[in-house]
Amino acid sequence: MIFFCNFATSKLVTNMLRTHNCGELRIDNKAQEVVLCGWVHRSRNLGGMTFIDLRDRYGLTQLAFNEQVNKELCSFARTLGREYVLQVEGVVCERSSKNPKMPTGDIEIEVHNIKVLNQSKTPPFTIEDNTDGGDELRMRYRYLDLRRNILKQNLSLRHRLSILIRNYMNDSGFMEIETPFLIKSTPEGARDFVVPSRMNDGQFYALPQSPQTFKQLLMVAGYDRYFQLVRCFRDEDLRADRQPEFTQLDCEMAFVEQEDVLQMFEGLMKYLFVKEKELEFGSFPRITWDEAMRLYGSDKPDVRFGMQFVELNDAVKGANFKVFDEAELVVGVCVKNCADYTRKQLDELTEFVKRPQVGASGLVYIKVTEGEIKSSVDKFYSPQQLTSISKKFNAQTGDLILILAGEKHKTRAALSCLRLEMGTRLGLRKSDDFAPLWVVDFPLLEWDEDTQRYYAMHHPFTAPKTEDYPKLFTAPADVRANAYDLVVNGVELGGGSIRIHDRDMQNDMFKTLGFTEEEAKNQFGFLLDAFEYGAPPHGGIAFGFDRICAVFSGVDSIRDFIAFPKNNNGRDVMLDAPSNISQAQLDELNIKLK
Ligand code: ASP
Repeated sequence: MIFFCNFATSKLVTNMLRTHNCGELRIDNKAQEVVLCGWVHRSRNLGGMTFIDLRDRYGLTQLAFNEQVNKELCSFARTLGREYVLQVEGVVCERSSKNPKMPTGDIEIEVHNIKVLNQSKTPPFTIEDNTDGGDELRMRYRYLDLRRNILKQNLSLRHRLSILIRNYMNDSGFMEIETPFLIKSTPEGARDFVVPSRMNDGQFYALPQSPQTFKQLLMVAGYDRYFQLVRCFRDEDLRADRQPEFTQLDCEMAFVEQEDVLQMFEGLMKYLFVKEKELEFGSFPRITWDEAMRLYGSDKPDVRFGMQFVELNDAVKGANFKVFDEAELVVGVCVKNCADYTRKQLDELTEFVKRPQVGASGLVYIKVTEGEIKSSVDKFYSPQQLTSISKKFNAQTGDLILILAGEKHKTRAALSCLRLEMGTRLGLRKSDDFAPLWVVDFPLLEWDEDTQRYYAMHHPFTAPKTEDYPKLFTAPADVRANAYDLVVNGVELGGGSIRIHDRDMQNDMFKTLGFTEEEAKNQFGFLLDAFEYGAPPHGGIAFGFDRICAVFSGVDSIRDFIAFPKNNNGRDVMLDAPSNISQAQLDELNIKLK
């Protein structure tokens, strides 16, 4: 029901329902007649005076009602509940007690007319920065959660970044071209979401995991600089930084080599940092994949802090300490100024590394203290040996060395988790500190024990380094790719590669991946065919756009940079999707449920 409280001759007849928004009035507007629209954020009843904070996307403005000036209006104002939608008319006045924390805190509106545009039920949680609503409840009423400041800020950041990106891409000669959402399912990569086709009985479309093959076809077609801010779909288990549908900034260029792509997109990132954060960067550091794994145990290292790995095989083996003697790799980090860690703190760290997600079997420590060196392996190593180990880390008095041992890949991964944990505990991963870097020279292939075959580490269209190509059939694991990732603060923001543009090389790649000729033709025949009609050399990259937004805000989760995200079970709890469909729909699709 809409009702009207007409206490004075209304001047509310304008094309727009308001003259100003709730965030823009200042002392300079004093004495102006204004009309505002918004939601009742909160109201305070102080005897003779009633105040309402009116809220819209732009901010809050205080409305004042003086009982002595207009008793009836003041009583009416008191009846207005939280989240009612109002149109108010009044005059801008200077506040007697100003609020320096509010941009509009110098003024208030002395209201002489209110129209209730709509009523509201009491919301199930408070629309405040520190809301009392739990996750699930806020997801169910996402449109109310979206009224809160944090989400408004996140979505406006997302909007600004998308405009900046489009400007940069446009100024650099890229064309935005849309590619289809209903495509063909392929077994490579992550799991596809599939869509049944009514008109093609028993057949399915897949939703794209990325527009990879289309952007390559656009290169064949001659659109030599393409980009798209595009939704992608992957049916994977969810984590904080993953959603089943997410947005990529997808890009491709023809007639380029790796260096050209790196320069172009380093330029983009620098542009975003300058425009959004007023941060200037020199050239981004580059590190090879091998080095990243050796120094940080991760292909997306957080280099906001040092704590690089030091490998200790040579220094520790042969002292009859079985754990080290039998390990493929013994490796450690030096944590500054933590030699005073207590037994309890060290036990906690041991528990941490033993968690299944981290996977180490134990933790060895060395404490470098004034005039003394102590360790959990004193039985096996003399103080001289421990000192010489600590020198490998350049450890100083007061430092703590943490060491893990075991199978190479697992141990590196576990130490990487420990390194990040220590970085977090010591406050070295500051959210307003940004450390971008390129990781280059990824291996082309990775071996999978379960299926006993090679998989493309990036995707099957990635070109091997020219000098490594001859090893494709003799030593596939040693072939490096022209592939690169852009990493910021330990997050892979983007990844791409120079592509294969030669049919024979692409066939060789499919062969290495265990595809029969028939399978390759069946799944990627269209691309192989296109390579026979003048495919130019090309390469590109795709960025996780939601991730860029999260990293720019210094948070891990991408969920709150998406207006209507899914929960951790891939559900939209507001829509209650996915849901069953009717028998009639199933029949039409000729789908029989078990
Ligand atoms: N399509 C790739 C991906 O989604 C990115 C690229 O190679 O451009 O990871």
